[in-house]
Amino acid sequence: MELRYPPEAEAFRAEVRAFLGANLPAGWQGMGALSNDEAEAFSLRWRRTLYEHGLLGITWPVAYGGGGRSKLEQVVLAEELAQARVPMGRVADTTSVKMLGNTLVRWGTEDQKLRLLPRILSGDDVWVQGYSEPDAGSDLGGIALRARRDGDDWVINGQKIWTSRGDEGTGIFLLARTDPDAPKHRGITFLLCPLDAPGVEVRPIRVLTGQAEFCEVFFTDARTPAHNVVGEVNGGWTVAMSLLGHERGEEAATNPILFRAELDRLVALARESGRDRDPVIRDRLAWCYTKVEVMRFLGYRILTGYLTTGELGPEASVSKLFWSEYHQEAANLAMEILGARGMIREGRRPFKHFRTDEPGAPNTTNSWIDVCLLNARSGTVYAGTSQVQRNIIGESILGLPKEPTAR
Ligand SMILES: Cc1cc2nc3c(=O)[nH]c(=O)nc-3n(C[C@H](O)[C@H](O)[C@H](O)COP(=O)(O)OP(=O)(O)OC[C@H]3O[C@@H](n4cnc5c(N)ncnc54)[C@H](O)[C@@H]3O)c2cc1C
Repeated sequence: MELRYPPEAEAFRAEVRAFLGANLPAGWQGMGALSNDEAEAFSLRWRRTLYEHGLLGITWPVAYGGGGRSKLEQVVLAEELAQARVPMGRVADTTSVKMLGNTLVRWGTEDQKLRLLPRILSGDDVWVQGYSEPDAGSDLGGIALRARRDGDDWVINGQKIWTSRGDEGTGIFLLARTDPDAPKHRGITFLLCPLDAPGVEVRPIRVLTGQAEFCEVFFTDARTPAHNVVGEVNGGWTVAMSLLGHERGEEAATNPILFRAELDRLVALARESGRDRDPVIRDRLAWCYTKVEVMRFLGYRILTGYLTTGELGPEASVSKLFWSEYHQEAANLAMEILGARGMIREGRRPFKHFRTDEPGAPNTTNSWIDVCLLNARSGTVYAGTSQVQRNIIGESILGLPKEPTAR
């Protein structure tokens, strides 16, 4: 395996480092070192800085507001930002830029690209994901929300659930059943709908951290223009699966950097509490270290495939399964090291809850309780459960027989 990047990628790395040197505050420790209000303000400012320097959507064509750069340069940028302890954008960019934006670049019409991509990059439009329904999660093909064509519009009726940051979005990309008579995966259309359209109602759901991370979205005769179909009418399944590749695998090369930073903090926690002399704890820390190293090499492997084919195939499932299951073990270890102290909340609440706390976060119980004890649980559920990833790996990578379906 060739682990060195070609010279042109290293030249771009030098450019990114110069940009970081010029734009990060002196003595920058990471957003975790800021109070929540400061982190919120910094995150807004930082997104604007990335945008103004053409560092959001850097692989998108220049005609749509993107940077026109290569996928390898995108990875170099992501690595350097992670090393410098700054995010790639706002949390909402996960669904808006990473998922929908990349999907539009691949599947959108010329009109959609020109109309929507610049607004996604500027942050004027924020898109959230409307896939899951109360009776359709793992079995996504079982969605019941309906859309029917009426003149120049689609009329939508039904419900979505678990819509992350649904209350912060301006629009929702959703899967709708448009041909109830077709076999279930063939009667689905990928639609875009403004969240302020009459007939759309967003209701936040409070979760066990006490926050309202996601929402239910109800549609009652809500209308969206016909030009908001992405891909073919009744051909939405292909678009939906392509988007899931971005959701599951895109951070394969940068996740290990964040998990390594978290592991360093975990080792520091063990030292601070004197638990680093306990052979069982030492053994488990060593286990974590090996997993993060495996994650790093896995990331390179997935990256190589992505650079060669331009697609994130079923390997994205390997990455997703690996980091989410690793993180629950690391989370359990953190709580065990904290011991009785872990029952008391102290310090600031994390600004970001998913995967790791922001780099630079202090070793307080709140950081570990919110990110690890509570939110790490959901890592093996969102973006497809572990069982579903194992099915994909079994069927698409290992060539095992398809699982039997209940009739
Ligand atoms: C934090 C978080 C954020 C989320 N954000 C969004 C979002 O923004 N937009 C969105 O649309 N959705 C979102 N989701 C929903 C998520 O995609 C679903 O929860 C997930 O796909 C699982 O679906 P389900 O909850 O309906 O569980 P179910 O599908 O009912 O599964 C229940 C259990 O059965 C198992 N199971 C199901 N089918 C099989 C099978 N064939 N073989 C073996 N085991 C099986 C599952 O693994 C699971 O353990 C989010 C979820 C979480 C936790």
